[in-house]
Amino acid sequence: MPPLNILNNINISEIFISLQGEGKYVGARQLFIRFSGCDINCKGCDTDYSLRDNFYFIDEEYKNPISADFLVNKINNKDILEGIHSISFTGGEPLLWSEAVEFIIDRIGNKTKYFLETSGFHLDILKKIYDKLDIVSLDIKLKSTFGIDDNIDNLKRAEFIENNKSYFKLVISDKTKSEELVKVIKLLKEKDFNEIYLHSKNNLVEFKLLSDIMEMFYNSGITCYYVPQMHKMVGIK
Ligand code: SF4
Repeated sequence: MPPLNILNNINISEIFISLQGEGKYVGARQLFIRFSGCDINCKGCDTDYSLRDNFYFIDEEYKNPISADFLVNKINNKDILEGIHSISFTGGEPLLWSEAVEFIIDRIGNKTKYFLETSGFHLDILKKIYDKLDIVSLDIKLKSTFGIDDNIDNLKRAEFIENNKSYFKLVISDKTKSEELVKVIKLLKEKDFNEIYLHSKNNLVEFKLLSDIMEMFYNSGITCYYVPQMHKMVGIK
């Protein structure tokens, strides 16, 4: 059982219904639970994960911190799980709140599916709750894009990550180096993943560069999709 103090002190950025804007499930209608906080410090992060006094649960305003019980009751007391693809645990870094994620899944049970989007760094935590999740979106972070040491070796070591429930996303930029892509391809091959989802910061990318990067993946036997951040294109959260 997770420690009670964490379950009674959850900081939420916002809870809302929207469409998944990235990766393999783009367009899926989800209930997003966006937790506050992230410890990765990516350069140019465009997510507001700051701790805040109040947050919105769809159109109602509440005070932080909140209890996991409260969240479960709110979700169960409304019809919001009807007509959604899944609950998306996001952030920030939702794995910093893994006890809350686990609690919510255990309490809500099989009324919906559970989707988690992670930066791909806290893999020891992910391992503990991996079996409870239906879909896991993992970022591959490159130094050239985010100014931090990449997470490729960590991902390599995480033997529990399987291609039947997980997929990888990669943000590319005009600074992406071919030796980084070689490392990514090696990772995918070693882990038996045969597809990857590409994004670019602010949906900006020069087509020739994108095409060359995609060719590199295809030539290595990896199906590669470029997915503009759909939520930004259509002006939703
Ligand atoms: S992991 Fe995501 S939320 Fe955290 S700093 Fe990096 S881009 Fe921002």
